Amino acid sequence: MKVFVIGNVALDETLSIEDFPRPGASIFGAALSRDLGGKGANQAVAMGRTGLACIFVSAVGQGPRGQEIAQRLAQEPLEAELVALEGVATDISIVLMSARGENAIITTREAASALTPEAAAAALARGQTGDLLVLQGNLSAAATQAALRAARDAGMRTAFNPSPLQPYFGTLWPLVDTVFLNEGEAEALGGVESLLAQGVGEIVLTLGAQGAELIRTTERTRVPAHPCAVVDTTGAGDCFMAVALASAALRGTRLDARALNHAARAAAHTVGRAGTVAAFPNRAEMAAILAT
Ligand code: ATP
Repeated sequence: MKVFVIGNVALDETLSIEDFPRPGASIFGAALSRDLGGKGANQAVAMGRTGLACIFVSAVGQGPRGQEIAQRLAQEPLEAELVALEGVATDISIVLMSARGENAIITTREAASALTPEAAAAALARGQTGDLLVLQGNLSAAATQAALRAARDAGMRTAFNPSPLQPYFGTLWPLVDTVFLNEGEAEALGGVESLLAQGVGEIVLTLGAQGAELIRTTERTRVPAHPCAVVDTTGAGDCFMAVALASAALRGTRLDARALNHAARAAAHTVGRAGTVAAFPNRAEMAAILAT
């Protein structure tokens, strides 16, 4: 069984600053870290570390930032298919962390939104019945729809994380088997009942420190968060989604309470350490979590 993650990848540049600058100000900052980022890459890396065969498809530019991303992905247990586009800038995120512990994030999406519908569909040429497609909200409407339709045509299952929120999501629901989203996203999209009524098969609602809930038309299963010291919650949702899906896939079952418990443990690991991909459980830690 293979998982195809199609989504964005970026280089995350984190700077610590005393306070956020006012318009027109020049301020000093200190470089804290430079890491692989982007929701697509986050989910693919976490998925790959579970041991599932993972193919990550993403668009980058042709310059050195795209090459650095390729080198970083080569160190992960996944197959990266990077589409290097001419005249397009590789995506970056600038993360500003203030001394008060607040952050502000600026993300570009030129490369992610330039992935064509044809490339998104072609990426699934090797997809077979029983394989899984994982998507987030960073691609264009046309590319997202093309990938979901190609997956359905190939008999694959589809999982979608509607983040960041985009206006075109309403057209996608009949093509989505599983939705992972947080409370704010659920509210913005009209509530979980409305998503189920529009054709979504099942929903995993994540509730931060309050845990998560698996919701189907006839059942609801609530799982608590795994207790941990909170250092940095960035990427917790991405890690949770990947590990829940992988836990069920590796056991040959559909999502269940055990999958959500595995995901909660992996997410707590992430929350308890600084960084995003750098804070995800490594392969050995992931294996230990999945053995519980
Ligand atoms: P993010 O955008 O930060 O990646 P999200 O909003 O998509 O996160 P959340 O609902 O905040 O998703 O968190 C996902 C999961 O991570 C939760 O279901 C929980 O298991 C875990 N988690 C998040 N915050 C905490 C916390 N403070 N303590 C323990 N676990 C947490």
